Amino acid sequence: MKSTNSAIPLEKLLEQLPEKYIGTDRDLIMRAYRVAEEAHREQTRHSGEPYINHCLSVASILAELRVPPEVIAAGLLHDTVEDTSVTLADIRRDFGETITSLVDGVTKLTHLPRVSRGDQHAGNDDDKQETEEIPIAPALLGRKEDIVSETLRKTFLAMGKDVRVMFIKLADRLHNMRTLSYAPEHKRKRIAQETLDIFCPVANRLGIWQIKWELEDLAFRYVNPTKYREIAELLTEKRPDRESQLETIKENLVQLLAQNNIKAEISGRPKHIYSIYKKMQKKDKPFDMVRDVRAVRLIVPDIPSCYAALGIIHTSWRPIKDEFDDYIAAPKDNFYQSLHTAVIYEDRRPLEVQIRTHDMHLNAEYGIAAHWRYKEGTKQSDKNYEQHINSLRSMMEWGPDVRDAAEFVESMHTDVFQDRVYIFTPRGDAIDLPAGSTPIDFAYHVHTDIGHCCRGARINGKLVPLYQELKTGDQVEILTAKRGGPSRDWLNVNLGLVKTQRARSKIKVWFKKQEDEQNLQQGRDTLEKELQRLGLKDINFEKMARELNYKTPDEMFIELGNGDLPVSKIIKQFSQQEEVLDIFEISPAHSPATSTNAIEVVGLKGMLTTMGRCCNPMPGEPIIGFVTRGRGATIHRQDCPNILQTKDRERLLQVSWGHIERTYPVPIKIKAYDRQGLVNDISNLLADESINIADVAVNTNRSIADLRLVIEVKDLTQLSRILTRIENLPNVMEAHRTNPG
Ligand code: MN
Repeated sequence: MKSTNSAIPLEKLLEQLPEKYIGTDRDLIMRAYRVAEEAHREQTRHSGEPYINHCLSVASILAELRVPPEVIAAGLLHDTVEDTSVTLADIRRDFGETITSLVDGVTKLTHLPRVSRGDQHAGNDDDKQETEEIPIAPALLGRKEDIVSETLRKTFLAMGKDVRVMFIKLADRLHNMRTLSYAPEHKRKRIAQETLDIFCPVANRLGIWQIKWELEDLAFRYVNPTKYREIAELLTEKRPDRESQLETIKENLVQLLAQNNIKAEISGRPKHIYSIYKKMQKKDKPFDMVRDVRAVRLIVPDIPSCYAALGIIHTSWRPIKDEFDDYIAAPKDNFYQSLHTAVIYEDRRPLEVQIRTHDMHLNAEYGIAAHWRYKEGTKQSDKNYEQHINSLRSMMEWGPDVRDAAEFVESMHTDVFQDRVYIFTPRGDAIDLPAGSTPIDFAYHVHTDIGHCCRGARINGKLVPLYQELKTGDQVEILTAKRGGPSRDWLNVNLGLVKTQRARSKIKVWFKKQEDEQNLQQGRDTLEKELQRLGLKDINFEKMARELNYKTPDEMFIELGNGDLPVSKIIKQFSQQEEVLDIFEISPAHSPATSTNAIEVVGLKGMLTTMGRCCNPMPGEPIIGFVTRGRGATIHRQDCPNILQTKDRERLLQVSWGHIERTYPVPIKIKAYDRQGLVNDISNLLADESINIADVAVNTNRSIADLRLVIEVKDLTQLSRILTRIENLPNVMEAHRTNPG
């Protein structure tokens, strides 16, 4: 928006009007001008200009937003009822109901409570006589934060009635800020502060960046003149340098993207003083860091190109951690969409990049007002408008179809704003939540930990149950416990304690984490107990987890604890490791079983096999069988020339090296309350598993039987299974492996 302090004549306004305005639209605006001009004729601004210039400037700002004609007419008339002898009835008679209600809305918004109670000269933002204030609750008097929130509350309520009123009010405030230097000095700072407190948040909520940044920079200049000048000077000082760098960067980017068939418009992004200041505060960075950041904006034809361009940029330069934001997939509350990233550019200094489509760009600059822009022009922009309405609708779960701008504005008031409630924190910050939200939703919105520890709530100072629905304007204070977590009840839909998905998912995450911690402990205990029973020490859990496809041992323990992973699977995996033989620390009980079992012919178990003397296969080598006449099969290496050349392909057999069985003697100890047939049960169990008992000794002392056995087992899996089965026999207290030797 072009900043201009000078008067704008009527002709200039008429030129500025959107082209689609027809004759009657222009007539309406002319009529409104004549009424306003006559009504304000005797009045002047502080600058000495005729008052009507203010009305024309407001109308001109509105024209640039391409609002419907009745809004521009109301903009021209916005101060008449407040400041002149013109009455609402006059306006109703001459202009009808719509314009009347717009002018009335703006007049009412003018009566907002003042932000600074200490200011005895408090006047309105306009150059007009002191006006009466709307009485506000005595409890709210005196604290600035309370009055800010009360004002915001009223502002939001007014906006809920008709968003067009807010456009006029914002245009009014913008022109007053542009001409603030003419205002009496004692008023400037207060009006500027009110702009930052009230009007910038409203412009932000409506997504009208064009108005938001200008209001912010104008206001910041008066609220904090020192910082403003400091940043402005540093910016100016580096400007030529920065601009020449940006030119090179832009050329590079255009080329790089063109090589990848992406058409992009690239512009350097102006840095606004207030946003730099906020960034310095938020990130706690010195100005040097912020100043050095060059910022560019890419406008590309469609969403796939956005991500493609992002990918190219991220592969060309190193992205800076935590600087990437995908507002396309997750738009901001005010529907702002864009990809944000920052990379370390070739000169080793940061470069900020925003990537968006044309539509997203329009929406980013003009917010809700972008829709009137879509309306004019090509079929494509009509389509974009429809698409945008559709996405808005699905985002807000709108009901009926919205066909044109007028309907859109209407449904803004019924659907978008009234689906939300505006709540205030004890500090006076406004938070908007879906209608039906409860104190718990509010608590989670403020901070996850406040949500977890929420035990009660006060609304406007009164204790309320946690299922109480919040209403716009409520000031909510959350009572928290020092520690502890959410209640399971909060997830019970029937109890209506939590409305927002955001809070629900945070609660679920908390429970999941609790369960994970419990399961982790339990899983670890289970495994450690089993390993101890098997006499295994110094186990590498990292390796074990990796081999079972877990990222960390903790993940493995959690699955073990919740039962998804049986302990036997871990032991089995473990016994397949080579060093398991070392863990047995003893040699095999028998020499390896000989070659009768060494070869397994798939599907033909027990077939006589002999080793091919031509190639002498060794265990482990890929082998193949050849069916002989009367001598079973001969085993060859798969790369044996005889096999490769044979024409009798149908006589070839798939074979593999069989399992070479070995057993290992393992001493175990069983403790039990002695009973009839105990030893017998144990030996039956071992016989059942075909386990040989190499040695046995029984000691009974005061009805406690102490059995020491040496059993010959194949592997850990078998040992683990046997010990478990023995422990499950009646009267057995424990069975575990004893140290070898
Ligand atoms: Mn005004």
